Order: sequence, then C-alpha cells, then structure tokens
Amino acid sequence: MMNKSKYSVTLIQGDGIGPEVTESAVRVLEAAGASIDWDRQDIGVAAREKHGVLLPGSVLASIQKNGVALKGPVTTPNVEGYPSLNVTLRKSLDLYACIRPVKTLPGVKGLYEDINLVVVRENTEDLYAGVEHEVVPGIVQSVKVITRAASTRIARFAFEFAEARGRKLVTAVHKANIMKLSDGLFLECCREVAAEHPDIEYTEMIVDAACQHLVLHPERFNVLVMENLYGDIISDLTAGLVGGLGMVPGANFGENCAVFEPTHGSWPEAAGKGIANPTALILSSVMMMRHLGEMELAERIEGALRAAYMEGESLTPDQGGTASTGEFTDQVINCLPIGVA
Ligand code: NAD
Repeated sequence: MMNKSKYSVTLIQGDGIGPEVTESAVRVLEAAGASIDWDRQDIGVAAREKHGVLLPGSVLASIQKNGVALKGPVTTPNVEGYPSLNVTLRKSLDLYACIRPVKTLPGVKGLYEDINLVVVRENTEDLYAGVEHEVVPGIVQSVKVITRAASTRIARFAFEFAEARGRKLVTAVHKANIMKLSDGLFLECCREVAAEHPDIEYTEMIVDAACQHLVLHPERFNVLVMENLYGDIISDLTAGLVGGLGMVPGANFGENCAVFEPTHGSWPEAAGKGIANPTALILSSVMMMRHLGEMELAERIEGALRAAYMEGESLTPDQGGTASTGEFTDQVINCLPIGVA
C-alpha cells in the first residue's frame, strides 16, 4: 500500500512560461523529499480549453479545501471585458496581503550585493477594484477605492510580519500629497497601527521619491507597505535590484488560505523555449514549505539554490548563462545534500 502524503496542495501551472517553471519547482520539491499530494487545477486559457470557463469553481474549492496553493503565472489579455484572473482569484479568496521578499542571491550580478527587503502590497482594492466606466464617449473613469478596513488590515499585517521576522523598520509608500483623501486615509491607518508598535520604527515616503531612493539607497528600507498599484510597480522595480523578475518569489495570504506564486508574469514570448529562470517559483515553494512548518526542508532547497548560484556554471540566460530551465533545475537538484536527491 502507498504511503499517504503529508500535505495536499493545489497546483496551478498557469500558462506562458508557467508550466515550465512550475514543473521545475515540483521536481526540486520532490527531489528534496517533500511529501505532497498535488491537486492539479487549471485557470485561464488552459481551463477554458478543458472546461469552457476561465476560472472553474473547482479551483476555488480546491484552494479552500487545501488551504495552500502553488501557482504559476497566468496571462491577462489586454482586452476589454476580459477580467484579470489573478485579481479575481485574490479577491474571491480574500487574499489581502501580498508579500514579496527581495533578496540578493550569492554570485548574482545586480546593482548591489546585499539587498534584503520585503514589499507588502494590499491585494484587494485601489484601482484594481475594477470599477471603470465611460462617462461620455472620449471620457472614462477608473475609480480608486481605499477603505479604512483594508488599509488597517494590511498595515497590521506589515507590522506583525516585521515583528515576527525581527525587522525593525516599516516604510509606508504613498502619494497623499496629491490623493489627499484616498492615500491620506491609507496613511492615517498606517500611523494608527504604527502607534501600536513602538518597537518598530515607522517612516513614510512619497512613491516617486521612494523609487529613486530604492535605486540609490536600498539599504534605507526594510519592510515597505503600500496600496495595490504602487505595490505592483515597486515589486518589479525592486526585482531589478536583485537580478530581475526571474528571482523574486511571492505569497498571497488571506485568513484561511495562501497562494504562493512568483512576482513575474507569464512572459508569453518565451513560452516553451526553456529560457525562463525558475528561481522565483522555486523560492515561492520555499516560502510555502516554511508556511507549512517544514523549516528544514525549506532550508535544504534554499541552500541548494544558493549553491547552484555560487557554482555559477548552469545559469539561465537572464543571469548571463546558457542553461535551459531544465538544466538549471538539474543543477539545483544536484546541489541538494547527498542522500536527499
Ligand atoms: P512578465 O513578468 O511576464 O515579463 C516581463 C519581462 O520580465 C520579460 O520580458 C522577461 O525579460 C522578464 N521575466 C519574467 N519572468 C522571467 C523569468 N522567469 N525568467 C527570466 N526573465 C523573466 O510581464 P508582462 O510581459 O508585463 O506580462 C505578461 C503577462 O503576464 C500579462 O498578461 C500579465 O497580465 C501577466 N501577469 C501575470 C501575473 C500572475 O499570474 N501573477 C503577474 C504579472 C503579470
């Protein structure tokens, strides 16, 4: 009789480069000894081909049942009436907090050698609420929705995250000088939560100035908390500090479930070419194993990844190498401690 796996996890491959990088993370997890029963689900183009809908109800049910999902990127065509499935998924499951740790890996050529900051992004409202309409032909409106409830909740998440990880500084990024009501409310909530955490230093920075300081003085930041749109943009900017989008993992947390996915998108032009860097998804799976309490296993995989970068022989093209997604994955597996792989 087969042994039952310890965890049941929803696996969404996504599309574009999604299937390649997801398969890479699954191979590394299994080689490292993770005991996971994969509940494979499709959304987006793949789901429409199989089930005739973009977001089958079974996907939400699976994530709600398992509590945890590992997800590849999903394309959102730039077409009116086609909703972003990522936004829909996050809102449907109330995955309100997006965490993106931005950390330099050894040997990776970036602007700096030792970046270590975390972007905390509110995931459910702002301009991503999808409230848009045409007032009259030639005039459209997109409504920015900011609420006290969501702003307080994300500020609390950021401070509690900082506290739990021994991080001593939280910076709220905003544009309250222009959007006095919406960003003003966001800041007000951050200040109230900051007052409950006197042990953690709290600062504020206007988003455009923050972009400059992040490029010139990233060491001045530790945990950054912000609304949805700024979080989307700042995530990609900070990815550029540590070798690009192929390097930055992510997690979306709600009260009852968590979806782990890379910061990058589906990069459709590279689909099937074997040139995508799977590091972001492998690191997302490391975050997932820590969330499940599998600290040693997470450590093992992160250690192998770091060793693969230090060895530096089998890197993907974005890191100056010529290795394919699969070859880099083989290298990470080869770097796992003997007796594990
Ligand atoms: P993208 O992240 O797919 O690609 C932008 C660039 O980043 C690429 O040209 C490439 O140079 C680099 N890149 C991305 N992933 C990489 C990897 N794994 N290895 C090496 N380099 C990598 O962004 P985009 O082109 O703006 O978006 C493409 C599609 O993805 C859009 O439909 C967008 O809506 C969607 N998207 C999905 C998610 C998600 O599923 N969570 C997130 C962001 C974007």
